Amino acid sequence: MTETPAATTPAATGRTPADGGYGDGTRCVHAGLPEPAPGQPFLPGPVFAAPYHLDPAAGPTAAPNGYGRPDNPTRRHLEAAIGELEGGGCLAFASGQAAITALLLAVPRPGDTVLLPADGYFPVRAFATSMLETIGVRVVFTPTAGPYPPLDGVRLVLLETPANPGLDVCDIAELAERAHAAGALLAVDNTTATPLGQRPLELGADLVVASGTKALTGHSDLLLGYLATRSTELLDTARAWRDTTGSVPGAFDAWLAHRSLATLDLRLARQSANAAAVAAALRARPDVTGLRWPGLADDPAHAVASAQMRRIPGIVSFDLGSAARVARFIEASRLVFAATSFGGLHTTADRRAQWGDDTAEGFVRLSCGIEDPADLVADITAALDAAR
Ligand SMILES: *Cc1c(COP(=O)(O)O)cnc(C)c1O
Repeated sequence: MTETPAATTPAATGRTPADGGYGDGTRCVHAGLPEPAPGQPFLPGPVFAAPYHLDPAAGPTAAPNGYGRPDNPTRRHLEAAIGELEGGGCLAFASGQAAITALLLAVPRPGDTVLLPADGYFPVRAFATSMLETIGVRVVFTPTAGPYPPLDGVRLVLLETPANPGLDVCDIAELAERAHAAGALLAVDNTTATPLGQRPLELGADLVVASGTKALTGHSDLLLGYLATRSTELLDTARAWRDTTGSVPGAFDAWLAHRSLATLDLRLARQSANAAAVAAALRARPDVTGLRWPGLADDPAHAVASAQMRRIPGIVSFDLGSAARVARFIEASRLVFAATSFGGLHTTADRRAQWGDDTAEGFVRLSCGIEDPADLVADITAALDAAR
């Protein structure tokens, strides 16, 4: 019998006072809901409005809603929910890229230096070199696993841990200390982990940015981003940026996202258990190389991930040697969809090189869905056999 690696980590045990003593499932179900009111739904439906009625005399100061770009109650409920889970103030954006580029454009000024992950989300790196550098912001790239250069003279450090798609990790608390000693701000892209997987603000980060398109909402039906921070100054800066550039999510997407949050604990638990089972099956195969899943005891990311993260994500990466073999594997599978993105209900496989990501031709990011573990392992095993 092969030993199935654990999907949760020692860091997962904590119910902290900041959570009101509640566990993750409870927190997700109740996050951001308004006080119960007889005759009202648990989660109010989406409010669709561009302008709202104004008080004819007092104007926009008389009510919280004046115009849809800055003001939407559905979005505010969602922001309250994500803010509760991250432990800070939250702003929702139209996509993860909208949130991350807001951070990178609103905080550093020309002449500043930002440090970005060399192995992080590819479009962020592309944006940094195609846009940030042309407006005079110096960009330094460092691998997520380090070593990190001295941070003196750096204005903003953006970490992505675990990094997408290679799944390396770094020690957020240690780098927050180093950044603060050098006078830099530390931000963490928390997309892969989600706020149930790790809480960067508690670990000392100044800001969290993330895509809510992936595991956070998890139904493969919307785009969302957010920024979270405990600093009112940074929140105000980001709000001014968002409300003037207009990168806000629509009311229906915000509502769908909030509705999806209630099942985050359940979805992540099954995805993580599926990843554990798939990783255990893949590691026994000589035809699969470069297997990475931070939950494996001998994974290079294991020590930091199990100390820092509250649960391990449902993403496994590996190499099948060639694009043709990846295609044969996905064609032979009955349960694995060929698709990009990750963290959804359905298991998907993405050959990252087809998008221009600087990974090997046969590199696959497999995102485990919430199917039954035995079905998934049997299907993937049979598909790999057929693709040999
Ligand atoms: C997907 C992703 C983004 C971008 O998010 P979108 O919602 O697609 O704009 C940013 N960072 C990471 C780590 C991602 O995986």
